[in-house]
Amino acid sequence: MEILYQSTRGNGERITASQAILNGIATDGGLYVPTQVPAFDRPVSAFAGLSYKETAFAVLKQFLTDYTDEELTACIDGAYNDKFDTPKIAPLHEAAGAFYLELYHGPTIAFKDMALSILPHLMTTAARKSGLTDEIVILTATSGDTGKAALEGFADVPGTRIVVFYPKHGVSAIQERQMVTQKGDNTCVIGIEGNFDDAQTGVKRIFTDEGVRKTLADKGFRFSSANSINIGRLVPQIVYYVYSYATLLAEKKIKDGEPVNIVVPTGNFGNILAAYYAMQMGLPVRKLVCASNENKVLYDFFGTGTYDRNRPFILTSSPSMDILISSNLERLIYHIAGDNAETDRALMAKLLSEGKYAITDSMREKLSMFVGGFATEEETKEEIARVYREAGYLIDTHTAVASAVYRRYREQSGDETPAIIASTASPYKFTRAVTEALGIETQGADDFALVGRLSEKTGIPVPAAVSSLETASIRHDTVCEVEEMEDGVKRFLGI
Ligand SMILES: *Cc1c(COP(=O)(O)O)cnc(C)c1O
Repeated sequence: MEILYQSTRGNGERITASQAILNGIATDGGLYVPTQVPAFDRPVSAFAGLSYKETAFAVLKQFLTDYTDEELTACIDGAYNDKFDTPKIAPLHEAAGAFYLELYHGPTIAFKDMALSILPHLMTTAARKSGLTDEIVILTATSGDTGKAALEGFADVPGTRIVVFYPKHGVSAIQERQMVTQKGDNTCVIGIEGNFDDAQTGVKRIFTDEGVRKTLADKGFRFSSANSINIGRLVPQIVYYVYSYATLLAEKKIKDGEPVNIVVPTGNFGNILAAYYAMQMGLPVRKLVCASNENKVLYDFFGTGTYDRNRPFILTSSPSMDILISSNLERLIYHIAGDNAETDRALMAKLLSEGKYAITDSMREKLSMFVGGFATEEETKEEIARVYREAGYLIDTHTAVASAVYRRYREQSGDETPAIIASTASPYKFTRAVTEALGIETQGADDFALVGRLSEKTGIPVPAAVSSLETASIRHDTVCEVEEMEDGVKRFLGI
């Protein structure tokens, strides 16, 4: 069955998967969605025992139907190889009454690697398929992790260039160091004087500006996006939910067909939307628990049916979730409106003009599988300490938000369904907060000294991705105002 893609705000025009991946975002500002979510082509039990790559092939093949088997295999082989520090790619770790799905074994030790290691391959394959000769320019706004993962994925990939914007004062020291030391002649990293939403809005503006698009086209460049709005990021994220369920089956931790709960620390709503799609495909899921930090706009949305971004932006210890406009929620809105672009367009226009919108009761009814929760900064810290104390297992701040939300949900609901918690970053990526949470002295020590202290105290080895940073040389030092983002791009491209 061929799966085509259309814009959440569009007029019903349908394009192939490879075209949607190349375009990134639709010219009407909408996001590409599959016209139909395919059902699994085999019983779920048949996934048990498959390797990560085999699972990836099975899932991608159903969504990316205009790619040949050979093309998909090449993309998967290019992505899930020894850049990951375990052949399992996404191992499950049972601790403190839940299954932590470790999505941080890739080159940048955060879950964005799961999709961004394959996206460049999907994209350059798409370009080849359509006979495109333009150079692809990836523009990305990052709250910290996407940027580095995209840079790693695209660095020195022929026919591509990548520009990453990050909030200069909104990422961890280690995240910033990872980005500004990025190698690759086709890479450009710029700090902006603003927060993540400013960066994201700025990138969207450059993307949808006809004038800029034309100037670039004249010079042989073509924009695309590595943000989670690209469908080529979303689809590879479905894979690990299927894989983790199959792992539980293979290890006899659950019975065939037994439902699980999936708990996801959420920012832009991409990771949890992938879990929703996995469920639509037929994965036995009872609840999708959407965990927010103190920027709890999604928690409020699931509780009230009103999405309202008019609130202070709070900097937390889980910066990759410091987001007030969760872009991928638009896809869910479109689906619960009955795949209705008109409704979606109207609500998104309201979001832009008033900063809020409310969904109808019938739309709300279609959200019954979602549970919203949030954790405060204090609860997040306590959760890190508790899981370490009880299970000797160290989790990062983002994972701790999910873990704390899950614990409260389980206590309050009595729901004992086995739970998979998406573990989205290595504790060494957010070392200061994790070290503080364990009650280790942090005063006067920089983040790199803390890495040593944390490893000494816990005996958990420091990932090479962190230990190599200290001596890496700085290659990017540009900082600009939000209004200067477009100039930054043009300067890098030499136009
Ligand atoms: C990006 C990110 C998240 C949030 O994922 P979304 O898909 O944006 O909801 C959570 N944790 C970490 C560590 C991340 O990098």
